[in-house]
Amino acid sequence: MLDLLTNKEHDEARQGEAFAPFAHEVNSFKKHFYIESYGCAMNFADSEVVASVLIENGFGATTNCEEADLIFINTCSIREKAETTVRKRLTEFRKLKRTKPGMLVGVLGCMAERLKSKFLEEEKLVDIVVGPDAYRTLPNLIEEAETGQKAVNVLLSRDETYADIAPIRLNSNGVTAFVSIMRGCNNMCSFCVVPFTRGRERSRDAESIINECKTLFEDGYREVTLLGQNVDSYYNASPNPSDGGAFKHSANSKNTSDSQGVVIPPLGGRGAVTFALLLEKVAQISPLLRVRFSTSHPKDITDDVLHTIVKYENICNYIHLPVQSGSSRVLQMMNRTYSREWYIAKVNRIRELIPDCGLSTDMITGFCTETEEDHQQSLSLMEYCKYDLAYMYFYSERPGTLAERRFTDDVPEAVKKRRLQEMISLHRIHSLQSMQRDVGKTFKVLVEGVSKKNEEELFGRSDQNKVVVFPKGNVKKGDYVQIKVESCTAGTLLGKQII
Ligand code: SAM
Ligand code: SF4
Repeated sequence: MLDLLTNKEHDEARQGEAFAPFAHEVNSFKKHFYIESYGCAMNFADSEVVASVLIENGFGATTNCEEADLIFINTCSIREKAETTVRKRLTEFRKLKRTKPGMLVGVLGCMAERLKSKFLEEEKLVDIVVGPDAYRTLPNLIEEAETGQKAVNVLLSRDETYADIAPIRLNSNGVTAFVSIMRGCNNMCSFCVVPFTRGRERSRDAESIINECKTLFEDGYREVTLLGQNVDSYYNASPNPSDGGAFKHSANSKNTSDSQGVVIPPLGGRGAVTFALLLEKVAQISPLLRVRFSTSHPKDITDDVLHTIVKYENICNYIHLPVQSGSSRVLQMMNRTYSREWYIAKVNRIRELIPDCGLSTDMITGFCTETEEDHQQSLSLMEYCKYDLAYMYFYSERPGTLAERRFTDDVPEAVKKRRLQEMISLHRIHSLQSMQRDVGKTFKVLVEGVSKKNEEELFGRSDQNKVVVFPKGNVKKGDYVQIKVESCTAGTLLGKQII
């Protein structure tokens, strides 16, 4: 598969996943909704907010679209292929709708935002179109659609964060959960549709995030991943003033400089919460709660964040640091605001402060004007960084983006794909080497469940986010175990428990 999407944040195995109903509630609702999700982890987290809004309003979840009264598809627009998948799925729902008059079909998320009411005209089967900031209005929109009208709300908001809505974790393993800490994006990467589909960046109130993480911990969860398009620019100017200084960064309260010499204002001053401080507060909930985060923009991750990772054993040593290209010329056209050298300096700093840090990236091949020389620079950057994981895509021009307006999509598709294949082959070598380096080492693993391949084995993740499989023994989901790695495959470490 050329368009490689295999990470936890954008998990190929979860694409099209539908929510499971609560066992005890399956028959207690008059109307059932079915929701299928595509795209990144933020979209899956949004579906949990949608489920919460619907259940609050008397609807029940089902995983069987044939028994549903309402079918929702939470969509992704990031590449053309993502939209094609959704269109195919909608055609299948059209057939189902013919056999079940009264069934309503709704499109949610980025594609709804991008196409707005064009959806109603183009895709004749759609009754409801809802953008990512309008999920609170779903019950009204459903009522409107039930009268036979088409219902649309694609208004983007400057302040909606759904902070007060407790997401319903219907498909959860009960151990790991995603927690949205911000929405939207203010970076204008020229290839990217996100700023147009998800609106301006806004940070969720810090206290509501910490409370959600505390509740998850009390409910037995042992890992939270703090989510945002650019988590390092999280900034909550005025957390609850009654907090009386609870949001003070204990690691660092003076002005500091990051590796590029940028002055970082004092943390915790006048109650402001930066990402480093939020991370610390979540880590302090319990040493038994693992904390991860995604995604970091290289220009925004600071030394304070790195020092906070070092300080807390339960903040995982793993950073997803998308670079997109290894050519400074292409990076400038992409409007990424850093050069190859700047990015390398950031990686060096991470390795200096956190020597065993797992590192992953996103890469795009065949962006406008990309030459063979630019491509070679991407490969040599990968050779330098030796990523543990890389998510690689060929460039897909998206309507309305800066690149679509300013540049010509001039690299032939065959060349984009050939370069992507070369990149994937190189990364395979690096990821296998990374796995092999772990053979013989011992890792603390958080157990997530039973291995799909063998019922007698469990799986979990190491601090560095690698999947580890080992014999069951006396261990259960949610436990931490020390596993000595004995061998590996390209994607899994295999080991046994050290007692
Ligand atoms: N906010 C994150 C960041 O800046 O790294 C990433 C968000 S985006 C949902 C995930 C990845 O999709 C990007 O890092 C990029 O590699 C890829 N992507 C975005 N737009 C693309 C496009 N037009 N064509 C191909 N890949 C794209
Ligand atoms: Fe898109 Fe860039 Fe924002 Fe990431 S940081 S969501 S790539 S605009």
